[in-house]
Amino acid sequence: MQTDFIIVGQGIAGTMLSWFLLQEGKSVQVFDVEKPNSSSRVAAGIINPVSGRKFELAWMYDTFYPFALETYRKMEKSLGISCFTERDILHVWPSEQMRDAFVKRQNTAPQNAYFKTAADADTEHLFHQPLGTARVQGATVNLGALLPAWRQHLKSLGCLHEEKVDVMQLAMDGDCLKYKDITANYVIFCEGADIADNYYLNEIQFLLNKGEALLIKAPGLDNQQIVKKSITLVPQGNDLYWAGSNFDWDFEDATPGDNQRKELESSLQELLKVPFTVEDHVAAIRPSTKNRRPAVGLHPTVPQLGVLNGLGTKGCSLAPYLAWLFAQNLVKETPMLPETDIKRYFNAP
Ligand SMILES: Cc1cc2nc3c(=O)[nH]c(=O)nc-3n(C[C@H](O)[C@H](O)[C@H](O)COP(=O)(O)OP(=O)(O)OC[C@H]3O[C@@H](n4cnc5c(N)ncnc54)[C@H](O)[C@@H]3O)c2cc1C
Repeated sequence: MQTDFIIVGQGIAGTMLSWFLLQEGKSVQVFDVEKPNSSSRVAAGIINPVSGRKFELAWMYDTFYPFALETYRKMEKSLGISCFTERDILHVWPSEQMRDAFVKRQNTAPQNAYFKTAADADTEHLFHQPLGTARVQGATVNLGALLPAWRQHLKSLGCLHEEKVDVMQLAMDGDCLKYKDITANYVIFCEGADIADNYYLNEIQFLLNKGEALLIKAPGLDNQQIVKKSITLVPQGNDLYWAGSNFDWDFEDATPGDNQRKELESSLQELLKVPFTVEDHVAAIRPSTKNRRPAVGLHPTVPQLGVLNGLGTKGCSLAPYLAWLFAQNLVKETPMLPETDIKRYFNAP
């Protein structure tokens, strides 16, 4: 079989790249092992305009967000699903420093375009909020709806392979790459944290960190906002809430840990005035990079091989634009963002 692209991985990166390449009229064959604890399957799907403790506007947010919104809306329409919800992020201040940093930013453009006023009285019966609250305009992507719907679509096109790609079986075939009986012009790796085992891309310095989250039931909460204190709550419907997550840079494996569960539960006790029960505990490994910029592009010496990875904590806001830019580059040789170019990791020209 001959194809334009083999895409390895169908997390949010592989989903977006295959979407845009198909839109360009290219043929794709997507390989994915449906790992239940891949980063995209565990993520809350939050899109947050501000970053860090200083509430700085997230990198290129004014470009990424409108593009992401438009893309998710188009996918919803095309796949007949609902997966994108604009919602506020209610900050319940854990410290005076955080509150003061927010107030300082409130009067400085451009971040303040996303800041809203909050009425503390509305949520006093739900949350421990002695230092008050504030609201920021954000969104969520329901990856639990989007990923399976796109997978089903790929299956219906006959271009999904539910198997693990063994990179050592890739071989050159003239100017193309051959994997088993498929000959492809390009093989693009969207493997998430599994990229760490990729022989061809081990020059790229990916940093992996583990995150854990609880799925809780809190019938008394009745809240549609994202709520953020030392833990973040994301409504899932039917009184269920995703509650997470922590960052562990020194982990042994990807399984949920007892100590992390205790920490998450204690953060929930500090936040919630209403009772809750823990229904599930999940963990996944986030693929990120040293300078917190994703790694995108073709290998400098084997240009049939490419990568879209290192989305860090912001897969849902970054993936649509970066996948589109990469697809345009692959098809029309248009420029990409220098900050994300993988050539920065290689000594080759
Ligand atoms: C606890 C937690 C919470 C998070 N919350 C958010 C959030 O609220 N908002 C946000 O934007 N981001 C969040 N993230 C980050 C987000 O999950 C990642 O940025 C994003 O999901 C990475 O997507 P990906 O497609 O690169 O990788 P993945 O989601 O890991 O997908 C890679 C896929 O490739 C498959 N694969 C790998 N190797 C092979 C192979 N050789 N052959 C076949 N298949 C293969 C894997 O099985 C997997 O299905 C969170 C992450 C964690 C861990």
